[in-house]
Amino acid sequence: MAPHRPRAGRAPRPSLPGPGLRGEHFTVLDPATGQAFDEAPDQRPQELDAVVGRAHEAWLGWRADPVARATALLTAADAVEAARADLAPLLTREQGKPLSESYAEVARTAARLRYFAESSPGSRTLTDGRPVHSEVRWRPLGPVAAIVPWNFPLQLASAKFAPALAAGNTVVLKPSPFTPLATRLLGSVMSAALPEGVLTIVTGREPLGARLASHPGIRHVTFTGSVPTGRAVAAGAAPGLARVTLELGGNDAAILLDDVDVERIADRLFWAAFRNCGQVCMAVKRVYAPARLHSRVVEALAERAKTVVVGSGLDTGTELGPVNNAAQLARVEHCAARALADGARAVAGGHRLDRPGYFYAPTVLADVPPGSPVVTEEQFGPVLPVLPYRSLDEAVEAANATRYGLGGSVWGTDLDRAEAVAERLECGTAWINHHAELSLAQPFAGIKESGVGVAGGPWGLYGNLRPFVVHRPLEAGA
Ligand code: NAD
Repeated sequence: MAPHRPRAGRAPRPSLPGPGLRGEHFTVLDPATGQAFDEAPDQRPQELDAVVGRAHEAWLGWRADPVARATALLTAADAVEAARADLAPLLTREQGKPLSESYAEVARTAARLRYFAESSPGSRTLTDGRPVHSEVRWRPLGPVAAIVPWNFPLQLASAKFAPALAAGNTVVLKPSPFTPLATRLLGSVMSAALPEGVLTIVTGREPLGARLASHPGIRHVTFTGSVPTGRAVAAGAAPGLARVTLELGGNDAAILLDDVDVERIADRLFWAAFRNCGQVCMAVKRVYAPARLHSRVVEALAERAKTVVVGSGLDTGTELGPVNNAAQLARVEHCAARALADGARAVAGGHRLDRPGYFYAPTVLADVPPGSPVVTEEQFGPVLPVLPYRSLDEAVEAANATRYGLGGSVWGTDLDRAEAVAERLECGTAWINHHAELSLAQPFAGIKESGVGVAGGPWGLYGNLRPFVVHRPLEAGA
């Protein structure tokens, strides 16, 4: 696959030192080099009044015709798929992930548009024995703000705009300033299929997101990102009483049972932790292994960490790209360094890679004190602690001892026993013998500090609708 070439008229600017302003634009860095390669508009918060106003205007037409909506969304899905050879390399260039994963992300974006285009809330008649007919019909909310992070820019954006648009809302979408480019291209690709103002992409540095989340014309704020920003978003939306859906961080545990076949599951477990360089909200972030198997599990994971091909996502053969940005790399480094200072042992990695860009060696840690931040906090990078346990109760208690509650998994040969343990996990999704697999049709909802509200499947659609009830007597004159 040919590497991405900047669009015509956009010469690469390798001489720029880092993210910064250039007139009304901010620079975008390639995490594989640490160099600027393009730029995006640095929109000012005051521009949002006009943007949200146009989204409201567009909503009046868009909400009226569900059949036209479904057709437009299916056409948009085709357009996204047709543009994959432009979208995927651009996504890799700004995000860092291997090209094959960017192609998968684009495919998932198109699939989500199709899934929601074909979903409909329908109506429902209620009876309670009285001579009245109550019918629940579902109505859209109005302009929706979608704010997303940099780890899956297109996939997470589509998880927000596909159900919102299918429900009859219009959307103002703000990508992360680290990854604005593929989202802007996606918006322009989809614009041929959608009436003006139905989906608007805005890019810029803060306080653009804060102003969007608190804009009085927005009726639903759907946000994915960190817990502190999620809190700020909820506080910003509160005065206008806009609905809020928050998908926040995670610190998922994987519990291995004593009948687990270590060699058989090692690849799957490794990738459940390290895919996208560990920058996945529902990645495995802690492994609990029975004390008797602990060293075998550590060795199996470390062997993979030492041999996985790390490099630019655009290079053929790369399995793991860089961390997305300098601040995240510093956070990962700090987390691992603190664990090592706390007495942990890096069985693989434990250091930055000596090359340009934001590369950190895939790291497997043993002998980690349970109170070290790499266990208690979300590392969100290619560093995995493996902890021994003596009793299952101890493992379950440790897995649940977190302020997060996104996902968790149990790995073993006896599936009934594994499921019984999975039942005890305090989280939104519990997997058995895999982790972080989601279908388009299933609900996705974290508990505790992992989030508020439900995304995915019909629940994602209803999250963008309000019930409207028509209540009438069964007979005229009653
Ligand atoms: P972040 O919270 O820093 O930023 C997320 C988005 O919010 C970005 O677009 C950012 O520009 C914007 N933003 C920043 N300040 C804002 C404010 N005051 N008001 C409104 N918007 C603001 O998160 P990040 O570093 O981009 O992403 C990493 C985090 O996202 C991790 O904690 C990860 O677990 C989480 N995440 C969660 C899920 C999930 O589904 N639960 C999925 C992916 C990532």
